[in-house]
Amino acid sequence: MISLYLDVFLLAASPFIGSFVTASARSWPDWGKIVTGRSACDDCGRTLSPAELVPVVSFLIQRGTCRSCGASVSWTHPAGEILALLIAILAVLAFDGWMSPVAMMFGWVLLFAALVDLRTFLLPDVATLGLIPAGLAVGFLQGGLDTLWLNALAAVIGFASLALISETYKRLRGREGLGLGDAKLLAAGGAFAGPLALPWIVMTGAGATLFIVLIGHLLGRKASADTAVPLGPGLAAGCYLAYSLPSLISPHF
Ligand SMILES: [Zn+2]
Repeated sequence: MISLYLDVFLLAASPFIGSFVTASARSWPDWGKIVTGRSACDDCGRTLSPAELVPVVSFLIQRGTCRSCGASVSWTHPAGEILALLIAILAVLAFDGWMSPVAMMFGWVLLFAALVDLRTFLLPDVATLGLIPAGLAVGFLQGGLDTLWLNALAAVIGFASLALISETYKRLRGREGLGLGDAKLLAAGGAFAGPLALPWIVMTGAGATLFIVLIGHLLGRKASADTAVPLGPGLAAGCYLAYSLPSLISPHF
């Protein structure tokens, strides 16, 4: 019963958590601003009133602009708020008891990493490396030492495979094509979801990234082999889907 109340509370809170996650990702790595800063307009700097901070609704009512200066508000705000809600819904559907808040936390940290990667082409270590021990701890609590070792192996394979591709690409092309951040993110995905999830995470990541490039192409943004496209957001989506979908399809998986 307590866990039902917690789920309902977290579902209701998730768009606000998404708002915080998005604002944090937009200020990262300025932690001072994240911890102490009241939300303010990026352009005129005016502190936003509570009525302007209602997730999605405020954005729609103000038609994506600041009330004072008319500057446009980044679309990442409503997108992050909606994604945080979708993450919470999937967690509640796929997991029971203490596992659903755990899954939400995993999803929200992945969302933070993805939003930072979109903006800076860097995945923050605090998110990717932080998720590795978290995933191993959750695996241990769920399945004991067997799951812990299996997930640790998945983290190592995940990191090593992308790090190897990254190094090979660098040798062949003489420049960075795939950052080590992506390798650390795949390690985090392995630490949570185990070795069988790794190919799914990579396929989802590559598929989602190609899809974004294709949409960009249709919108008139020509991509070439030199166009920088972050892989992190696709990989992050892959990590969360590979973690929660098996439990959704078969609850005793
Ligand atoms: Zn303004």
